[in-house]
Amino acid sequence: MTTFPDLGLSDELLKAIGDVGYTTPTPIQAQAIPYVLQMRDVLGCAQTGTGKTASFTLPMIEILSTGRARARMPRSLILEPTRELATQVAENFRIYGKYHPSLSMALLIGGENMGPQIKALERGVDVLIATPGRLIDLFERGQIMLNDIKIFVIDEADRMLDMGFIPDIEKIVGLLPSMRQTLFFSATMPPEIRKLADRFLSNPKTVTVSPPASTGVNITHSIVNLPTANDWHKREALRTLLRNHAVQNAFIFCNRKRDVAIVHKSLQKHGFNAGALHGDLDQSTRTETLDSFRSGNISLLVCSDVAARGLDIAAVSHVFNFDVPFNAEDYVHRIGRTGRAGKEGTAFTLVTPDEGKLVAAIETLIKKDIERSTLDLPPVQEGRSFGRDRKPASSRGGRGSKPASRHRAEERAPNATETINVSAVIPEPIYESPRMPPHPAPQPYGHTTASAAALAHSGGGSDHGHGFGEHMPAFLRRPRTVEKRSS
Ligand code: AMP
Repeated sequence: MTTFPDLGLSDELLKAIGDVGYTTPTPIQAQAIPYVLQMRDVLGCAQTGTGKTASFTLPMIEILSTGRARARMPRSLILEPTRELATQVAENFRIYGKYHPSLSMALLIGGENMGPQIKALERGVDVLIATPGRLIDLFERGQIMLNDIKIFVIDEADRMLDMGFIPDIEKIVGLLPSMRQTLFFSATMPPEIRKLADRFLSNPKTVTVSPPASTGVNITHSIVNLPTANDWHKREALRTLLRNHAVQNAFIFCNRKRDVAIVHKSLQKHGFNAGALHGDLDQSTRTETLDSFRSGNISLLVCSDVAARGLDIAAVSHVFNFDVPFNAEDYVHRIGRTGRAGKEGTAFTLVTPDEGKLVAAIETLIKKDIERSTLDLPPVQEGRSFGRDRKPASSRGGRGSKPASRHRAEERAPNATETINVSAVIPEPIYESPRMPPHPAPQPYGHTTASAAALAHSGGGSDHGHGFGEHMPAFLRRPRTVEKRSS
């Protein structure tokens, strides 16, 4: 088995790795690090949770440990789709670069004051971690030059595509020197991403740790077909699932922020301990909610895709898709929030009759049929107003399009137990925007108490210790196929 010393990393890095408590490189690290150290371009197909971040941060520290940055001319650039992921990568650099005190880093993310970011750039930066919008903004203000970039990393490329960042990335690549090393990571490799990789990379080494668009190996996931698209019925189905299963904690995904708010409020009314997370909430609320979920004060987190992207929380027992995601790839990401860190996970997706096409797209992507579960629900009574039924998926608008304004007044369940004043919840239906809460420090797989203490001491992971304990990482497990039920 490959060890960290086998990978050609310096003693300082090995010491920092030891302090965090990592004993063995993950497969993506074992495969990618030697090529990055050889200054080769790398095309990495890996999702979060595989140790992907260290696969580029560790060798970058090694390469950049010699040489110095000039003012406003960073030596390396890492693009992340969200503030949360950018913050997470910065935290990785801080932890692994602990014995490289002269290495400087700056984080350029939107929603934060530009002043300190500009000051950091003026001092000279070895590692620049940025979200595309803020980087372009600062470039256009003349605060940064990109012609000294030696190493360029595009992380989560498929997410960049989903979030409409590709034109920004093309613009940024046009500002970089052609003589550079490029590392390109994506959880999935749809044709658009493959084309981009072909354009940006030169003779890359491809490293893949799980097949594109595969679902986690220890997640049991199934579909619950609902007879109608009635909103109350959907929420009742969700409540029934929550009551019938041993749900310790769960992510509940909705496609729209408005529905995040509605489902959240409805669950609270029914006595569930739930919080909500979406991009329109202010930063302190998001951080507080996330902290409460991590610490177990909140057990259900109703959220949108962007808000939950990349969250590395080791022990989440369930994922519920209140809506089938519009993009098939999001299904893989959503259900991948459970079954992490070697633990078993369960995911349910509520499917209304109009969402069949979306399910078919997911099954095509993951190349298998998803198990169907049955659920006994009370019938929707005739002649009562139970809220508006949903529009067919095809008319709801897809990626990037805005849904038509929907104003639901009071909804009443058949048993009259639920009344939601929607107008008091969220004013308008809005699509998710690429903004995220900060991410906690990385957590080691199987770290020891001593190493956890070292991590806490270093500031990493001290807030919410979700180590992986004695559990075997998911990527070391053998794939388990989900049998389709005969009924
Ligand atoms: P990532 O895929 O980069 O988001 O990493 C997922 C988690 O794995 C993070 O909490 C890391 O701290 C942790 N991790 C990364 N590399 C290793 C390793 N070699 N051994 C144990 N844990 C690791």
